[in-house]
Amino acid sequence: MTAPRPLVLVIEDEPDIRAFLRSSLQAEGYRIAEAETGARGATDAATHKPDLVVVDLGLPDIDGIEVIRRIRGWSPLPILVLSARAQERAKVEALDAGADDYVTKPFGIEELLARIRAALRRSPLAQEGGPRGFSAPDLEIDFETRRVHANGKDVRLTPKEFELLRHLVANAGKPVTHRELLQSVWGPDYGDEPEYLRVFVNQLRKKIEANPAKPKYILTEPWVGYRFAGE
Ligand code: CA
Repeated sequence: MTAPRPLVLVIEDEPDIRAFLRSSLQAEGYRIAEAETGARGATDAATHKPDLVVVDLGLPDIDGIEVIRRIRGWSPLPILVLSARAQERAKVEALDAGADDYVTKPFGIEELLARIRAALRRSPLAQEGGPRGFSAPDLEIDFETRRVHANGKDVRLTPKEFELLRHLVANAGKPVTHRELLQSVWGPDYGDEPEYLRVFVNQLRKKIEANPAKPKYILTEPWVGYRFAGE
């Protein structure tokens, strides 16, 4: 038995972009549903039960950010923003509202397709529980035994460093905002101390990166946060 083809809901008011996404996604084997307005899209996300949503931010009725909030109110399904708003603040706002990833227009279709595949792979609808670990030739992490082995030697992490790493790996491939990291590791009273986070990220890089000055795994997303590069 083959798995049903994933359904992607596209919420986008520009007909040309919808037509382009329709043909590109169908050519890759996805099913597609389309909504021209934010309100329609938020409703369709509930009734059509898509596997992933692609949402524009500039919509004719409600803002895409509001669409993200409405969907996040009841569902963890992957949401990918496709927007002409390129400022870091717009990205942070979308990610904090609950978007999983952000692609800026004009976009390359190959990049968009890769981001869609990655978002579907790590979708909570597709997997149970968090990551058990991570494995690459130069980095092995086992979250159950709390064992980390990097560049040929065992590494000792403090509890905070370990939680930070776990949160990044759980979101591998996706930018995680400073606020989200601070709140998930230090608690809900935190959120506006990116410099505090930077200290811990630097410590973590010294322990697991072969070259902490040119990190391979814990990448900086300028002004936004950090991204764990392994998948
Ligand atoms: Ca638009």
